[in-house]
Amino acid sequence: MPHVVIIGAGVAGASAAATLADAGWRVTLVDKAARPGGRCATRRLAADTASPWFDYGAQYFTARDPAFRQAIASDLDAGALCHWRPMLHVAEHGDAGWRRTPSPDERERLIGPRGLNHWIRHRLDQTTADIQCQRRVSAVARSTQGWQLQFADDAASQNADALIVTLPAVQAAGLLGDLADDMPELAAADSALSPCHSLVVAAPALADCHGIFVKGGHLAWCADNTHKAGHGEAGRHLWILHAGPAFSADHLEDDPQTISTLLIEEFAALGGLATARIKPVHQHRWRYARPGAEPPPAETRCLARPELRLALAGDWLAGGRIEGAWHSGRAAADALR
Ligand code: NAD
Repeated sequence: MPHVVIIGAGVAGASAAATLADAGWRVTLVDKAARPGGRCATRRLAADTASPWFDYGAQYFTARDPAFRQAIASDLDAGALCHWRPMLHVAEHGDAGWRRTPSPDERERLIGPRGLNHWIRHRLDQTTADIQCQRRVSAVARSTQGWQLQFADDAASQNADALIVTLPAVQAAGLLGDLADDMPELAAADSALSPCHSLVVAAPALADCHGIFVKGGHLAWCADNTHKAGHGEAGRHLWILHAGPAFSADHLEDDPQTISTLLIEEFAALGGLATARIKPVHQHRWRYARPGAEPPPAETRCLARPELRLALAGDWLAGGRIEGAWHSGRAAADALR
């Protein structure tokens, strides 16, 4: 049975792993992080399992494509996914300051009842893949024998017949070195993912508002995670604030305190709250978060060199979104079979 190593255990990696494991391949999934999930990232306020959780990466996802919707139906049945029905607002900045108005819709939005990270782990639990975390791949090489991977802090190498890389384009290009020269699409996609500053704050609930799409501000999205988690309306809520791509890029290397202050001031203004009532809880910089203004067309889905038994996958190749990452991982797996 062929052996594939998949680098990156986010949605694309998990999808490729499931596809090849179901086809009888031996699958090894490696990730530099302490746990799988990629941008499906969930934390608790404290180690205690009763402590409130929050998603500080992806917040929810939509399933527009029937094949993807069908693929996740069993996760809904198993309770690894559930629906989130927020009261949504749009905030726009005008001459009179921020104006926030309800913006309801009927779109189906999906979340993990214990966070999106648990959903990915649930999916991985359904596969036979060997998942190895805290393993940073430092080099990959191709020979007539197949692929050989080297790891930082580990002298032992790993051999494989096939390789799937689900890293952002820039990191994939760096890892592939000269091999990337044969992939002009990869060079063209160099800036395909823009950054996102994420700030979790403790703040009051807002009346009839659980999520805000922000237009023209530092922020792009604010979500009441306490509502997502199904907790009551009273007391301190955890809000997730995501900065927009322009702000995140302009302030990429800024001191976290400066970023936190700017985002809290804006959230206070559009929520009608005093800044003193908003306390930062957790801050994270996603260096590669969202596809840029002109992502490759969704039908591109993956970059594959079947003759090298190499494929690249990720949401940046498939129109963004979690469903794009899922399609991309599956396409990469199919390209190598
Ligand atoms: P979606 O269909 O809910 O949202 C897509 C976009 O449509 C939103 O960003 C928003 O601009 C707009 N929109 C949706 N519902 C709206 C409403 N009721 N009123 C006004 N505008 C509305 O979700 P999706 O496309 O499946 O994406 C999931 C979410 O993840 C989106 O909000 C997207 O922006 C976000 N995302 C964030 C990052 C990041 O780095 N912060 C990266 C990728 C995706």
